[in-house]
Amino acid sequence: MTTQAAPPVERKDFEATKKMKAVMGQYFKELEQGSQQGKKTAWCTSVGPAELLRALGYNVYFPENHGAMLGATRMATDLIPLANARGYSPDICSYLTSDIGSYLKGQSPLQKMGMSGPPRPDVLVFNTNQCRDVKDWFQFYAREWNVPCIGVHTPRSLGELDEPIIEDVAHQIRALVMPLEEIAGQKLDPAKLREIVVLSRRCTDLWKAVLETCANIPAPMTFFDGTIQMGPAVVLRGHPSAVDYYETLLAELKQRVADGIPAVPGERFRVYWEGMPVWGKLRDLSIQFASLHTCVVASTYCNSWIFDDLDPDDPFRSMARAYCRLFICRSEDAKEHYMEEMVAKYRVSGIIYHDAKTCPNNSNNRYQMPQRLEAKLGIPHLVIHGDLNDLRLYSEEQARTNIQAFIEQLAQK
Ligand code: SF4
Repeated sequence: MTTQAAPPVERKDFEATKKMKAVMGQYFKELEQGSQQGKKTAWCTSVGPAELLRALGYNVYFPENHGAMLGATRMATDLIPLANARGYSPDICSYLTSDIGSYLKGQSPLQKMGMSGPPRPDVLVFNTNQCRDVKDWFQFYAREWNVPCIGVHTPRSLGELDEPIIEDVAHQIRALVMPLEEIAGQKLDPAKLREIVVLSRRCTDLWKAVLETCANIPAPMTFFDGTIQMGPAVVLRGHPSAVDYYETLLAELKQRVADGIPAVPGERFRVYWEGMPVWGKLRDLSIQFASLHTCVVASTYCNSWIFDDLDPDDPFRSMARAYCRLFICRSEDAKEHYMEEMVAKYRVSGIIYHDAKTCPNNSNNRYQMPQRLEAKLGIPHLVIHGDLNDLRLYSEEQARTNIQAFIEQLAQK
């Protein structure tokens, strides 16, 4: 049996997306206004202590989100060489190089939203749970603007999340409180922190439920939709607007499931995406998979904003546990176990690994995982070579051919 690429399929837009655009627009507007009105701004890595920063009244800005915007708008490829010329290698994180390039050139997708650009930080707060690059990235700006850069050094390749590790990370988060209070000019109110953790946990539970609707056959949403829909979970966890948004989206997805409305009309194949998105090619990939009647139903990437451990009754230790459970900082065994669960839960028949040249941390095909999982689960895999932001590292023709051949392989099975 062969599978023919069909003409582009008609897909129904999500009603909720209009609301998401409004929520994200409001977030960016408040960032700019807050900053102009003297509200302190903290830059935070994607799984940095955002709850703590919100509880202390900071504007919280996430440069990785800006990195993704630079990728999705395809501005990144032209900006990266500017950072390279300043000594940041073309081989390191292309979020870092495109973001620094954006700063050096004074160009940002935020300008199209009426902002002058990213807000100037009063403090930069990192967590190295994902990689060392985030700290190096923040240190560039710390030197540039002479602002403090503080954070958490999380151990990596974690197997079991042992108590001493959690206690150490919780201790590091607690140690941030005093310097952050000094910069914020206010004391941490434990009741406020509790309230933020409640909201953050609620956001995470809803986001998880949103993603889990895709366990249904047919799935109501694809990975490519998920990369857009995850915006509020990334930048607004701990804020009521994210909770409100995911309640709306979840209701719509449940209705789609009840009505049998598929994300990919005529869904025949279900696959898992492991690794970073190719931000500049989301639309093209989405169209190709849809034309092959293939739904990318789940991904490690979208799942990375699920923080089941958050507990308002034990904020510091639960933040530590949640931030350490992150897939990216786990051992090969733990990652493999997780992937097995995902394959079963989402009933996928193939796994696609994106080997992102500038992010070894999110490229899990390099230490034999695809071969081990294929032997164990009996489902095939495909490795796509590319990058999150640097499109010079991605061959569209090769990716298209390989995806087509992979779906043929699934059809023959
Ligand atoms: S995890 Fe990868 S993409 Fe994310 S900041 Fe680190 S190197 Fe960059």
